[in-house]
Amino acid sequence: MQERAIPICPKCGYDQSGIIATWDHACPLQGQCTECAYEFQWANVVDPARVDLLWYTEHIHRKRDLPYRSLQTLWRLLLPSAFWCEVGVHTRIRFRNLLLWLLLILLVLHALSLFPVAMGNWHEQWGMMGARGFREFSTYAPLAYLYELHNAIFSPFVRIHYGYYGFGYTLGGYNNDELEAAMLICGFVAAQSLMWLIIIWVLPITRARSALRAAHLVRAFVITLIPAIFFFELVRVITGLFNWMPASPMMNWFPFVFLALMALTLIWLYWFWIAAMKVGWGIRPVWPIAILGSIAALLSGAIVFVSQGL
Ligand SMILES: [Zn+2]
Repeated sequence: MQERAIPICPKCGYDQSGIIATWDHACPLQGQCTECAYEFQWANVVDPARVDLLWYTEHIHRKRDLPYRSLQTLWRLLLPSAFWCEVGVHTRIRFRNLLLWLLLILLVLHALSLFPVAMGNWHEQWGMMGARGFREFSTYAPLAYLYELHNAIFSPFVRIHYGYYGFGYTLGGYNNDELEAAMLICGFVAAQSLMWLIIIWVLPITRARSALRAAHLVRAFVITLIPAIFFFELVRVITGLFNWMPASPMMNWFPFVFLALMALTLIWLYWFWIAAMKVGWGIRPVWPIAILGSIAALLSGAIVFVSQGL
């Protein structure tokens, strides 16, 4: 698909149409931005889609490529340095595709978590009573199945309660702990990434010296919402499994698995931002921002934890 947009410097966003207008009867192949000194090929500035990546979901053209591109993109994201090696300042930004892809990831993970969440919900209300619970639950069928489906979809935000104590709509899960846990864990990851974004955005040395378009920072931040989505769904699954089979010995392992996943995610997150600056955007020197960003992100994570715990 072709778009007639204003030709801009891919790095700093400076309008290049004035220079193009000075071309009389010949056009150069190579160019340099007068604003940020970034060197480029003119063909890529006039038509940025020329250098679209064949594996990347942001540059998708046909829906049927989605499974292949999703796997390829997630695979490369596992190693942030490898990802930013290919996704640089010259890589076209397509926020619409990126956000739709994130929505798809959320929907797929949400669908996968429905079963353990539904079993957990059901067990909390009816399963405790054994066979009698199932008989009572059955007296509300077939509507009860719809209620449980609704509760599994909207857990831990809102819930329909029904049965002996009547019918109603409540905010939160069975108790507000489930909502708090999901928000705390999700916010813990997202807040740290947001702090990286803010630090890189406001520090005069990064923005002035590298003249980086803000859209590049926002793209990096949007990608880091993937682990936040993952942890939101993971909390749903773990809460569901705990309610479903609280006595299972498997449950003893969950805190350790969870902590290990969280530690790996935070290492990935910091690595992702540092690799973006160093490999993707060519910021030099990167270490002062890396140190400042790490400290600020750790502090913001701690603040989220303490404020939620009180
Ligand atoms: Zn420029």
